[in-house]
Amino acid sequence: MDAESKIKFLLENERLDAGLKAIASKVLEGERISFDEGVLLFEKGELGYLGVLANYIREKRHGNYTYFNRNFHIEPTNVCVYDCKFCSYSRLIKNRDEGWEMDVDAMMDIVRKYDNEPVTEVHITGGVVPKQDLEFYASFFRESKAHRPNLHIKALTPVEYYYIFKKAKLSHYEGMKYMKEAGLDSMPGGGAEIFHPEIREQIAADKCNAEQWLDIHEQAHKLDMRSNATMLYGHIEKYHHRIDHMERLRQLQDKTGGFQAFIPLKFRNKDNQMSYVPEVSVIEDLRNYAVSRIYLDNFDHIKSYWAMIGRDTAQLSLSFGVDDIDGTLDDTTKIYSMAGSEEQTPKMSTQQLVELIRHVGRHPIERNTLYEVITDYKDVVFEEEDEKKARYYPLPVIGEKI
Ligand code: SF4
Repeated sequence: MDAESKIKFLLENERLDAGLKAIASKVLEGERISFDEGVLLFEKGELGYLGVLANYIREKRHGNYTYFNRNFHIEPTNVCVYDCKFCSYSRLIKNRDEGWEMDVDAMMDIVRKYDNEPVTEVHITGGVVPKQDLEFYASFFRESKAHRPNLHIKALTPVEYYYIFKKAKLSHYEGMKYMKEAGLDSMPGGGAEIFHPEIREQIAADKCNAEQWLDIHEQAHKLDMRSNATMLYGHIEKYHHRIDHMERLRQLQDKTGGFQAFIPLKFRNKDNQMSYVPEVSVIEDLRNYAVSRIYLDNFDHIKSYWAMIGRDTAQLSLSFGVDDIDGTLDDTTKIYSMAGSEEQTPKMSTQQLVELIRHVGRHPIERNTLYEVITDYKDVVFEEEDEKKARYYPLPVIGEKI
C-alpha cells in the first residue's frame, strides 16, 4: 500500500477520533493544520497514525531520498558564561580549569587535519566566553576561507552571536553582515531549546530569549544566509509549549523562507542540573518527529542527529517524517556523549551511513550544506574490504520502495 492509500484507509476508519480524521484530511489535501490541531496530535495521535501522516508528507516531498553530509565539528570551548540547567557539556567560568578553550591556531589545526578528506562542512558551536569575541571568530572564518575556500562554514548560534554583537555594540543585522563578509556561510539551529518563557526561564534563563534568537535568524536570512532550527524536547515542557515553539518557527519561515531543516533534540539527563527528570521513550521520540513533520509544512527537511538518539532510533525516524541524518562527524563532537548518549565516540564512515540508510529501504544521497546533491549512492558498490567495516546486515524491508 503506498503512503496516500494508507491515509485514505485511515479516513475510512469509523472509530478514528473526529479531530484526528479532520487532520488526516488536511494532510491529504496539503492544507496547514492549526495550533490546536498540533496539540491534539500530541495528545491523541497514536504512533501508527502519526507515522502514516508524517511519512506521506516526507515521501511527497523527498520520495525515498535520505540525505546526509560529510562533516566535522569544532567546539572551540566548553566553558560558558551561561548556566543552562539541562547542559551537561559546559563548565562555568569559575570552573574553567576543567574545560578547554581553543585559540584560532588550534581551530585551524583541526581544519588542516581534514585537508585530504572529502568533507564539505565544518560545524562550529560551543560555550560562550568573553575572549572568543567578534574578532576572534571573524579572524578564524577568514583564515579558514583562505586555506580552503570551498569548506562550508556553518557556525555559532544566536546564543553566541547575541553575546558577541552586544559586546561589540553592533545590531544583529550589522553583526551578521560582518560575519558573512568574514566567511560565515550559514548558521546551525542550536540554542533554541524551548521558546516559551514559562519553560525557558526555568531551563535557560540567562541567555538570549526567543525574540532575540528568532531575530538573529531573520537578519541572517535577510543577508541570504540559510539556517536550521532545533527544539530541545522531553523534559519539563508540555505539548502546547512544543507547538508554540514550532508555531514561532513556522511564522518566521513564512516571512523569510530561510530555514532549511528542523532538528528535534532529545533531552538527555546525564550529569546536568536536571538529571532528576527522566528521559522520554523512543516512542515519544518518534511521535515528536512525526508531529514536527506534520506541523512545519513550510520546512523542507526534518533531520535526526544519530549521535544524540542512537543509530537504531535514527533508522526508525526515517519512517516518521525524517529525511536527513546528520553526518559522518568523525568523533569531533562531545556535546551528545557528555549528555549521556549511547554514542560515546560518534563517528561513521560514509559506507556505514549509507548502509544505515539502505538497510531500512531508503535511498542514500550525499548532499552539501545547501542540499545540493554530491553523490547518489543508490547503486554504489563498496569495496569488499570496506564492507567489513559496515555494522549493518541486509534485512528484509517490508513495504514498497519509491
Ligand atoms: S547550553 Fe550552551 S549556552 Fe547553555 S550553558 Fe551549555 S554551552 Fe552554555
